[in-house]
Amino acid sequence: MMRDSFAKFAQLLKKTKNIVIVTHWNPDGDAIGSSLALYHFLKKTGKNVQCIVPNSFPEFLHWMPGTFRMVNFDTQASQAMKLLDKAELIFTLDFNSFKRLEKLGDLLAKTPGKKVLIDHHREPENYADYSFHDIHASSTCELVYEFIVGLKGKALIDKKIAACLYTGLMTDTGSFKFSSVNSKTHQILAELLTTGIQPHIIHSAVYDNYSAHRLRLFGYALSEKLRLLNNCPVAYFCLTAEELKRFDFQKGDTEGLVNYPFMIKGITVCALFAESEGSIKISFRSKGKIDVNTYARKFFEGGGHLNAAGGKIKDSLDATEQKFLNTIKTLF
Ligand code: 5GP
Ligand code: MN
Repeated sequence: MMRDSFAKFAQLLKKTKNIVIVTHWNPDGDAIGSSLALYHFLKKTGKNVQCIVPNSFPEFLHWMPGTFRMVNFDTQASQAMKLLDKAELIFTLDFNSFKRLEKLGDLLAKTPGKKVLIDHHREPENYADYSFHDIHASSTCELVYEFIVGLKGKALIDKKIAACLYTGLMTDTGSFKFSSVNSKTHQILAELLTTGIQPHIIHSAVYDNYSAHRLRLFGYALSEKLRLLNNCPVAYFCLTAEELKRFDFQKGDTEGLVNYPFMIKGITVCALFAESEGSIKISFRSKGKIDVNTYARKFFEGGGHLNAAGGKIKDSLDATEQKFLNTIKTLF
């Protein structure tokens, strides 16, 4: 845990006007939720603030309040560059290595603004001037909640901010079922509900939003592509670019699929390998003390959390699967 004091953050914010918030490549619910919650909070305190995302994010997050104001570096690079040049302070949320920003990372490394890291992933790199980091937090949204409260901003948490925070807490905890969930998580959720947000509406907006193609892709993967290992509690899928195209793949369509094999009694490690434009997007999930963060770092140029990690490598799907099969036993 690395946390600068709230007094220090209060002092810092007092003298700052122009702020940019940046989150990771392929933003998920926690990335967008934490960015927008912090955005609305800082706006309410009179700051000049903008959010930048490295690339686009899934359609099931577009409903969140403020998404239309986010600047997409992939399609609006010059606007993003101007904002970064002007920013005195840059919040980096839900990641801890510039590598997680792809091209935007090279740019961020050169910007003069001071960097604040708010994150819950393991092994943070050393780029931040100020940190609010805790690997035991269920989500970056949980940390942003604590950050706002610590800055005496609880009264400013309105329905919009609460909806953003609730979404990140929900998506990063598998709807409140992962081992990262504890009484504090539920206390925060209870506080958020007092603003009048309706959980069933948020759950529906995120999860009851599949295209028929997406649901059929899940069905196909489960019936045709699920692989189980002999004498080893591991299950995984490999999906080729052709297969994804067949199901009209859209960004975010495979999210959640990796967890399904946990429904099989005894399975403790799940993996998903999905081919896209010459690289393989990888997801690992585990139970208990099995450390997929270290495994993803060591063999797949990735990282993340103890029980949920990812990576992306430039190799063929077959070679990636072979590497996985050759190394997976090291996890046990
Ligand atoms: P997912 O499998 O849902 O894409 O990612 C699981 C976790 O691993 C997330 O917390 C995510 O931030 C992290 N992660 C995913 N891909 C990468 C990667 O390429 N590098 C690193 N360091 N972490 C990743
Ligand atoms: Mn997160």
